[in-house]
Parts: sequence; structure tokens; C-alpha cells
Amino acid sequence: MSLSLCIRCGAPKARPSSVCSRCGLDPRLRPIDLAKSIYLSTDRLDLGHAPGDWGTRLSMLKKELEAGRDVPYDEDELNRIIRLNATARRVPLRAVWAVVLRFFFPGLLLIAVLWGLVFLLRLLR
Ligand SMILES: [Zn+2]
Repeated sequence: MSLSLCIRCGAPKARPSSVCSRCGLDPRLRPIDLAKSIYLSTDRLDLGHAPGDWGTRLSMLKKELEAGRDVPYDEDELNRIIRLNATARRVPLRAVWAVVLRFFFPGLLLIAVLWGLVFLLRLLR
């Protein structure tokens, strides 16, 4: 299960990009806030860039944020996250659809051929 913390108040969120239900912070408005939100989430574990005990460390950081204290961020990791987000935003939507179409095209072609065969067999009956 994914865990993400609000970078301002420490409230748990479903996703790093979600608006905080407690304080209303929208991390999507500033790239640095979004990077910090991704940093303070277990989503980094999937990428293999977070330490193994990150879930436990997040619980400790949550208490710090809830007490109104600042938490330390690894600047190199924040810069890496910002770079990855910028790269992901540069991928044009057309390229995404091209990949989706390439993936599903063989299946759609098979369905069309089968449908055509059924249509022809019905005509010959
Ligand atoms: Zn918050």
C-alpha cells in the first residue's frame, strides 16, 4: 500500500500529487513541492531509490511535520525527482497513444478478422 505525507502538515495522503485534505496544500503548483511530496512517499520504493526502512523513517518524519518542525531532504534526490518529472512532462501525449495503439493493434486486428469471417460465413449459409 502506498503512503504519502503532506510536506506542510504531515497528514497521510493516497498519492504524492494529491491535495492535502487537512491543510489544503496542492503540491502540483510548484515543482519543488511535488518533488518533496514524492520524496516523502513510499512510491520511491518501487523505483529502488528509497532506503529499505523508508516506511519506518516516514513514520518518524510524519511526527516531525505534525509538530511543525522542518524535515531534512536529500538535495541530490530532490534534484533527481525534479529531473524525472520534467522528463515525463516532455513526453507528448501523441507518443503515449502511439505506444498504446501499437500494443493493442494486433488484438484489435484479430477481432476484426474474426468478425469479418463470421460475417462472410453468415453470407455463404
Ligand atoms: Zn497538509
